Amino acid sequence: MSIKLTPIQESLKSFFGFNSFKGNQEEIIQSVLNGEDTFVIMPTGGGKSMCYQLPAIMSEGTAIIISPLIALMKNQVDAIRNFSNEDGIAHFLNSSLNKTETRKVKEDIISGKTKMLYVAPESLSKQENIDFFRGITVPFVAVDEAHCISEWGHDFRPEYRRIKEMIMAIDENTPIMALTATATPKVQQDIIKNLGMKDSDVYKASFNRPNLFYEVRVKKDAVKHIITYIKANAGKSGIIYCLSRKKVEEIAETLKVNGIKALPYHAGFDSNKRARHQDMFLMEDTDVIVATIAFGMGIDKPDVRFVMHYDIPKSLEGYYQETGRAGRDGGEGRCIAYYDYKDIEKLEKFMQGKPVAEQEVGKQLLEEVVAYAETGISRRKFLLNYFGEEFDEVTGEGAGLDDNTANPKEKLDATEEITQLLKVVFSLKEQFKGKYLTKFLSGTKTTEVKTYKHDSLELFGIGSDHDEKYWMALVRQAIIGKFLNKEIESYGILKMTAKGFDFIKNPTAFHIYKDHDYETFGIDDSILGIGKGGASADPVLFGLLKDLRKKIADTKKVPPFIIFQDPSLEDMATQYPITPEEMVNIIGVGQGKAMKFGTPFLTTINKYVDENDIIRPNDMVVKSVVNKSGKKVYIIQSIDRKRPLEDIASAKGFLFSDLITEIEHIVDSGTKVNLDYYINENIDEDKQEEVFDYFHEAESDSVEDALEELGPDDYTEEEVRLMRIKFLSELGN
Ligand code: ADP
Ligand code: MG
Repeated sequence: MSIKLTPIQESLKSFFGFNSFKGNQEEIIQSVLNGEDTFVIMPTGGGKSMCYQLPAIMSEGTAIIISPLIALMKNQVDAIRNFSNEDGIAHFLNSSLNKTETRKVKEDIISGKTKMLYVAPESLSKQENIDFFRGITVPFVAVDEAHCISEWGHDFRPEYRRIKEMIMAIDENTPIMALTATATPKVQQDIIKNLGMKDSDVYKASFNRPNLFYEVRVKKDAVKHIITYIKANAGKSGIIYCLSRKKVEEIAETLKVNGIKALPYHAGFDSNKRARHQDMFLMEDTDVIVATIAFGMGIDKPDVRFVMHYDIPKSLEGYYQETGRAGRDGGEGRCIAYYDYKDIEKLEKFMQGKPVAEQEVGKQLLEEVVAYAETGISRRKFLLNYFGEEFDEVTGEGAGLDDNTANPKEKLDATEEITQLLKVVFSLKEQFKGKYLTKFLSGTKTTEVKTYKHDSLELFGIGSDHDEKYWMALVRQAIIGKFLNKEIESYGILKMTAKGFDFIKNPTAFHIYKDHDYETFGIDDSILGIGKGGASADPVLFGLLKDLRKKIADTKKVPPFIIFQDPSLEDMATQYPITPEEMVNIIGVGQGKAMKFGTPFLTTINKYVDENDIIRPNDMVVKSVVNKSGKKVYIIQSIDRKRPLEDIASAKGFLFSDLITEIEHIVDSGTKVNLDYYINENIDEDKQEEVFDYFHEAESDSVEDALEELGPDDYTEEEVRLMRIKFLSELGN
């Protein structure tokens, strides 16, 4: 089999319009082009599709892509066709096609038009299809969502087990590619074994999603908070997960009566209703989906801007999968989970009566969830550690994008208190649950206490200088720290661990984190999100382009992001392209898309530029949203949220002047930032005007020259630098 090579990067740029690969896509694609068996493990949104799409386009013949869901196939085929002028470039073959349609697909394949054929495993096993595939050139077979092979995965499909057999029947030398977002070793082994990929090249990408912001909030006034958040982020797409169908319907209804476009989704609806609600979400006829975990797989909507967990999930795997659906396009993705320990207790109750082994697994998974919810360290670090990855919370990509780092929790010394707690557990002979212990420690004389005559014990009320809430938090921290162990079968009775005994004998320093105080239900600034048009884009133009996209999408009956994704529109609203050549330079716009959809957008931009006397950047700066480092994204987002620069600097551990340097870099690379909120607060109007005028007339933008001219005694260097940023942003970018 011959594979014709063209430079991979060139193909990426000319077909997809992307300037760079995400993660290790390029190596993976090279491996496929070399005809190797290739195993790809990449988180949701990591860009797995590209790993088979590009080599398919670059290879002779038709690559077969096995995919579990019809909706998913259709989605991908639509997306690919829109990058190309040739509709035959991608097809799918499944039970939804009639005879004529099937014949057309096969004709296109034979004529060489078709580079990618999406097939359901059931269709692959049909003898007539196998015979057909034997007669054509198949450069490789890609198995997408390969975890469906494993019984240990969350989505086992028995048909997936027969794939290898089918491939052998077509041509045993066909290279195989497997792709999954499941990080557990057990599932990975199953895939390798079942597909016979012993010597394959394995590519495991980092599971870090640097653009996602993780946050856990105390579940108090949660619905009110959700509504306020959505209203402040009007027009953005989001998913809210709940554990029960009843809750799903209840919350969807509450959102609706509050004027939010929201729809419910759960497995209790018939498939028509589910498909309809899913489509409305994809087509942006509804902004919010309230769902059970039944919703999500196969949702390749790239611009989901928030994922909320109204109920805390049962495992961190599930949580990560679900939050992973936010910000697939590299743009904003806010993940908010509402946490109440009572919900954990409810989940524990559900486990009672189940086989012990299952209980044990369930309990361990829940303990991790509690630990995550209550931790004071970077959430990203916690999650990545959980998946076996190291993360540096200061320099790592995405550092700062979580509540604990942005707004550190207060740490309290609790060495004495935990010793008291452990002594009490021990002296009460390990017979009591957390709740009772909090009463005992705080000295509350309940009926139960009196029945046991515990109020006469010496240790009773030993911790009365703290309330029950404090003691409950400490109990949880003691479980997380493995000083105490909670037995599910005996309804939550707390036992000492060996570590707990050791601690009583040799206490070492122990700290607990105080919960963020959301008592006042102040909506912190961060809730207001970044501007609708992303960081640097012209919001008015961005709005116009979005409306235009929606109009075109409606007439073509495709989801809006199939036309152009948000980062492309943002880039257009930043670069103001007015010719087809300039259009091709926009992120995510290749030749195909420019020809197919470019014209109405160019017309709109042209008109807008004209009417508003926009000074366009002279040289198109080719920017990559995806590659903006987490730090920069954080700074831009924080500025959009009008956070004081001092706060941004301290959140990132920068000196003030370092922060200004970072902002200068951002502005120098063509991004507009608006510092007016800060400048107006900190620099006199007269002074502002004088510096601004200076730069207008000046021959260079050198800060030194400016200081010299303006008088170093009257102006600080920082003032001049800030004004220079303002000047460049307003006039240059
Ligand atoms: P996965 O299947 O791994 O969950 P997808 O294949 O759906 O992820 O890709 C997620 C998003 O990333 C898509 O919107 C896709 O267009 C985008 N994408 C993929 N590769 C690149 C790239 N090299 N540059 C920019 N965007 C990319
Ligand atoms: Mg995918």
